Amino acid sequence: MPPHPRESTDILISGGGVAGLMAASAFGAAGFSVICVDPAPPVTDARAEGADLRTTAFLQPAIRLMQEIGLWERLAPHATPLQIMRIVDAGGPAPEARQVHDFDAADLSDAPFGWNLPNWLLRRELLAHLGGLGNVSFRPGLGTAHVLTRETAALVRLSDGARVAARLLVAADGRNSPVRTAVGIGATTLRYGQKALAFAVTHPAPHGNVSTEVHRSGGPFTLVPLPDHAGRPCSAVVWMERGPEIRRLAALPRADFEAAMTERSARLLGPLTLASRLTVWPIISRIAERFSAERCALMAEAAHVVPPIGAQGLNMSLADLRLLRDLAAASPETLGSPAMLEHYHRSRWPDVRARVSGIDALNRASMAGMPVLREARAGLLQLLYSARPVRKGLMRLGMGTGSG
Ligand SMILES: Cc1cc2nc3c(=O)[nH]c(=O)nc-3n(C[C@H](O)[C@H](O)[C@H](O)COP(=O)(O)OP(=O)(O)OC[C@H]3O[C@@H](n4cnc5c(N)ncnc54)[C@H](O)[C@@H]3O)c2cc1C
Repeated sequence: MPPHPRESTDILISGGGVAGLMAASAFGAAGFSVICVDPAPPVTDARAEGADLRTTAFLQPAIRLMQEIGLWERLAPHATPLQIMRIVDAGGPAPEARQVHDFDAADLSDAPFGWNLPNWLLRRELLAHLGGLGNVSFRPGLGTAHVLTRETAALVRLSDGARVAARLLVAADGRNSPVRTAVGIGATTLRYGQKALAFAVTHPAPHGNVSTEVHRSGGPFTLVPLPDHAGRPCSAVVWMERGPEIRRLAALPRADFEAAMTERSARLLGPLTLASRLTVWPIISRIAERFSAERCALMAEAAHVVPPIGAQGLNMSLADLRLLRDLAAASPETLGSPAMLEHYHRSRWPDVRARVSGIDALNRASMAGMPVLREARAGLLQLLYSARPVRKGLMRLGMGTGSG
């Protein structure tokens, strides 16, 4: 059989998860020709098998990027504002709140910290948005099979044998990125023996647009506000614990699971009722040794993975995307050049490494179950969130008004 003719494009995005689809929207809006491939077609219905039931809390810098690329208008009607971030230490003998720290976005500006959106809905709206961009071709069912880079282009073979030459190959193909492996970039991984359950709950008390992290041991239990469900206040939950405990919890009969999660939430919103399936996510930290190679940029989980603490994961990914988009748009003729890619790597890697280290420390502190470490952890939380300059610094980091 004769080989497929080679197709040329400005940008090939390997991976159509939330990050890859966002990248396709951003580069499409900037006028580049874009092909985005993913072997797994996106699941866009919450009830369907394989739906991603996590939610993403988008912080202000991410919102600004989505506004610039014309996405936010479509997403805003589905988003719930995050006005207050509440950190609760429930590390005493009984699972009761013993220290509560509130950070109010009103202390910084009249905008909320960010907005929360379900991941399955993000995929649905991103696909609809991409359908209106003539210069973007999304090809579900196709993966990146082979990568060869040259000075002038990345030469990619797709899983159906098609061949693509791209001036820039963007790896957004997840934590085990095939492109990262193909271009020979290693990664450092920190393991915790921890997993997360992600699901939705309803509760009698309104959430008041407060996002709450409850710390005890094993990892944080986080409630993030969602729109009402079946006429009742509703929140997304991420519950992190050691692997065997997650397996035990996931196997409990529904009533026992509801009792366990209500206790673990320190009853802050009253008795919790399960409003979705449970989904299980492995927790690691990982950072690629470099974020670029010849004609190739790594972004999102292909470049960095963090435990879901402080809503950093996808927000860091959108910071990757913003810089790539800005560099590409500032000088379209040098798209994918060594200078552009070196700038990207040098700017993003130190910032990401600092955040990976900080979130790793917070996760280990939250996992610690021994009383002495519990005290130390409460002290760390106190220091991080209450000492005014540190607190302001952290808040600015989230709000994107600082140097981070
Ligand atoms: C429980 C939990 C809660 C979270 N909450 C938040 C939050 O509130 N805020 C936040 O900012 N972040 C959050 N995160 C992090 C965030 O969800 C992730 O950063 C994000 O979903 C990862 O997106 P991604 O597109 O990089 O990776 P993925 O979603 O893994 O997408 C990678 C894609 O690449 C595709 N792929 C694989 N192989 C190939 C191939 N050969 N060719 C092409 N494509 C390929 C896969 O099919 C997949 O669709 C959370 C994470 C967890 C675990």
